[in-house]
Amino acid sequence: MKRAQEPDTGPRLHKPDGLDAVRRLEIVRLVGNLYRIAAQHFDCSGDTVPVRFTLRGLAAGQWRLRNGSESLHFNERLFAAAPEQHMPDTVAHEVAHSVVYRCFGRGPRPHGREWRMVMEQLGCKAQVTHRTPPEILAQTLNRHLYRCRCRIHALGPRQHRYAIHGRRSYQCRVCGDRLVPADR
Ligand SMILES: [Zn+2]
Ligand SMILES: [Zn+2]
Repeated sequence: MKRAQEPDTGPRLHKPDGLDAVRRLEIVRLVGNLYRIAAQHFDCSGDTVPVRFTLRGLAAGQWRLRNGSESLHFNERLFAAAPEQHMPDTVAHEVAHSVVYRCFGRGPRPHGREWRMVMEQLGCKAQVTHRTPPEILAQTLNRHLYRCRCRIHALGPRQHRYAIHGRRSYQCRVCGDRLVPADR
C-alpha cells in the first residue's frame, strides 16, 4: 500500500478512548487465568509474561518474542470500543500463541493445528480474522476501511479522499491487489 507523504491532518471526530486501571487489571487477570487453564493441558510453565497496552492501529492484540522474552500487547482503544468482542477471545488468541511457543517451540504455523488445539482447551473460538466490527474499527480509528483479496486496510481521511476521487490508487503490499472500499 502506497502511503501519502503528507501528515494526516484530518479532523479527529472521536477522542482516543483508552482503558481505565480497572479494565486493564481485568485483562491482566484474564491472561493469568488463561495460562492457568492452559497449564492443565499443556506443559507451558514459565515466567510471567508482561502485558502492555501500547498497540495501535488495526490489530487488537499481539504476542511478541524478542531475544527470547515474550510479551503480550493489546490495543486499548479497540478493547474499549468493543470489549465483548475481545474478552476473552482476543486475549486467548495471543496467550495461545505463547502456549504454543512454550510447548512446541517455533516450529508450528502461527494459526496451525497446535494453536487451534490450545484455543479449544481455552474454550475459545479459533478465529483469525478481525473481531472488531468494521464500523466500530473505522470509527474508533477515524479511518476508512478498504480491502484487497487478503486483508482489511485502514486509510486516513486524506488517503481516502485521494482514493475516491481517483487521484491516487493504493495497492496491498502483500498481494498486490488494488484497494477498494470495504463496503463495496
Ligand atoms: Zn494470531
Ligand atoms: Zn492483500
